[in-house]
Amino acid sequence: MTALPPLRETVARHGLSASKALGQNFLFDGQLLARIAAVPGDLAGQEVLEVGPGPGGLTRALLAAGARVTAIERDRRCIPALEELAAAYPGALRVIEGDALAIDAPALFEGKPHIVSNLPYNVGTALLVGWLSGEAWLPWWQSLTLMFQREVADRIVAAVDTPAYGRLAVLAQWRARARIAMPVHRSAFTPPPKVMSAVVHLEPVETPADVRFDTLERLTAAAFGQRRKMLRQSLRGVPGALAALESLAIDPTRRAETVSVAEFVALARLTPSPR
Ligand code: SAM
Repeated sequence: MTALPPLRETVARHGLSASKALGQNFLFDGQLLARIAAVPGDLAGQEVLEVGPGPGGLTRALLAAGARVTAIERDRRCIPALEELAAAYPGALRVIEGDALAIDAPALFEGKPHIVSNLPYNVGTALLVGWLSGEAWLPWWQSLTLMFQREVADRIVAAVDTPAYGRLAVLAQWRARARIAMPVHRSAFTPPPKVMSAVVHLEPVETPADVRFDTLERLTAAAFGQRRKMLRQSLRGVPGALAALESLAIDPTRRAETVSVAEFVALARLTPSPR
């Protein structure tokens, strides 16, 4: 690797003022970035997908950890700074200009990458649900290490019967072991966002082949769409769901918040697929 200028200098030289519309809050603290890059484990020789590298702080940490990085960035202004980084790590960084929500990311990899991102808050949940979705499982990625607003991170890892428990917890915990790897103070970002953040780590787990993602999604959308209502009311519009409640002896007067991930999976197994 050739010597790199300090990150703040790169940002200044390329005029990378943070854009609110693109959800830009940059990280500059090298120690913090190295700790985030260490969350998935030893990355030496591993493939990594990074969404939203911005000026490349986290990208630097991933490359320093020995990863081969594919970085998708929507902001054209960041590309020259990222190309400089690619030149400093020959063959280890592929920079793709584009919208991560529109790109066919699995097609970019032969093996299974780790996904490590300080995500733009406005697209983070959509990307996560996309990465957890689909009928084929195990997925095309090895692990997810993602920065979220603390409140969203809490919703991903929430336990049943807590206020944060909902659709996101069920979808994530059905298919992955999810944990908060580290809280990140708002002051770590430039500019600081209004809210606190946290890095969430998810590792996929095997799921039963006879349970469909689309059924589970439909059940959780209905159940948590009216979370204060009893299940017999909120699930009325899902064909077959009330019969599934009955055959599992789940009390129909319960509310969605009290239904465990395992119970939702059991319900999905007995509920006909919407397709
Ligand atoms: N990773 C950098 C860091 O840690 O300092 C930047 C993080 S910033 C919170 C989010 C980045 O995602 C920005 O650089 C933004 O331009 C980029 N971005 C926003 N929407 C995107 C999208 N749909 N696809 C790819 N990148 C996107």
